Amino acid sequence: MSEQANPFESLQEQIDDASDYMDVGDDVLTRLKHPERVLETNLSVEMDDGSVEVFKAFRSEFNGDRGPYKGGIRYHPNVSRDEVKALSGWMVYKCAIVDIPYGGGKGGIIIDPDDYSEDELERITRSFAKELRPFIGVDKDIPAPDVNTGQREMNWIKDTYETLENTTEPGVITGKSPDSGGSAGRVEATGRSTMLTAREAFDYLGRDIEGASVAVQGYGNAGWIAAKLIHELGANIVSVSDSSGAIYKEGGFNPVDVKDHKNETGSVTGYPGAEDEFSNEDLLTLDVDLLVPAALENAIDGDLAEEVQADVVVEAANGPLTPEADDVLADSDTYVFPDILANAGGVTVSYFEWVQNRQRFAWTEQKVNEELERIITDAFDNLVETYEETGAPNMRTAAYVVAIERVVDAYEESGNWP
Ligand code: GLU
Repeated sequence: MSEQANPFESLQEQIDDASDYMDVGDDVLTRLKHPERVLETNLSVEMDDGSVEVFKAFRSEFNGDRGPYKGGIRYHPNVSRDEVKALSGWMVYKCAIVDIPYGGGKGGIIIDPDDYSEDELERITRSFAKELRPFIGVDKDIPAPDVNTGQREMNWIKDTYETLENTTEPGVITGKSPDSGGSAGRVEATGRSTMLTAREAFDYLGRDIEGASVAVQGYGNAGWIAAKLIHELGANIVSVSDSSGAIYKEGGFNPVDVKDHKNETGSVTGYPGAEDEFSNEDLLTLDVDLLVPAALENAIDGDLAEEVQADVVVEAANGPLTPEADDVLADSDTYVFPDILANAGGVTVSYFEWVQNRQRFAWTEQKVNEELERIITDAFDNLVETYEETGAPNMRTAAYVVAIERVVDAYEESGNWP
């Protein structure tokens, strides 16, 4: 795994690449490549033993031209200012490509949550929520889950905000549990958009997804649900991994059984049905029909890309390929379908959650899934049309052309405010 690529520089390069295929001035381009503001804060939180620990945390509000800033909050030791800036920028273009009325934001705390008790995590989360309070709001900036956060953390943030504001405003945050105003289908939504993108990609390329061999790197919320839903399409999930390593079975796994094993033991490795175990890098270079990177950014750098043998890559993680990897794969027979479409299901169902919260009216899971499918398939059609029209070197650049045009249109139509 590459340690070198700076995700913020990767984002800027992706925007520059797309600008070659569109008419956008340097001033606007600069705006598209930098966040509007970044909050950096230090949370002093009491631990269970009475000591006080300080945690650095960030929230980047990248661009609000199309609507409120929107994006998750991650808890990870590798969180940094530049990572949060990049992730917030990717949210802008993700929301634009699926055409939902949001800008982009992202937050994070530098922490390994495994090292802390639930009570400590609650105090840390509420402390961050207190710092975020002046920034967030149902029409301003709406956080959501990301790596190592989920319904529990979202419920705490909602409660902290509502208590401090003396109101009920569930739409201030999405990805909550259903009893706290969460949407049906939200937990599965990221993996569902990965499945839909894979299904549409195989159809577009004239290939059969039924019987296709699939490797999934990462078995968190995005990866395991993607594996489950792609398996339901009739594909063979021959290899999956998590941070402990990868497992392999030529005839394919039942993803639900692997998930049960991970829930019991803490990792996918050691799964009794596996024929082989190897590293994450070995998984990424397997000769499979479909590869789904669903872990963290920079999983595939330029060197590793030389060894990638998959015919189709569908990105469930944010930023799993470096720009060098993109260049290598653009010159190969591998098609890469980018993160900003393939994992956009999460934020799309967050949008549905926000709409439901504002109307105080809950949709059925069937309605959520139908609307998500419509949005992802429309966005996919739009993407391949732009890919063919522009002659862009890969699907990522075409995706950015679609997304950037929408952001620029919104910006230019608003006029200037000094
Ligand atoms: N963290 C998810 C993402 O990267 C979801 C964001 C959201 O729902 O706002 O897209």
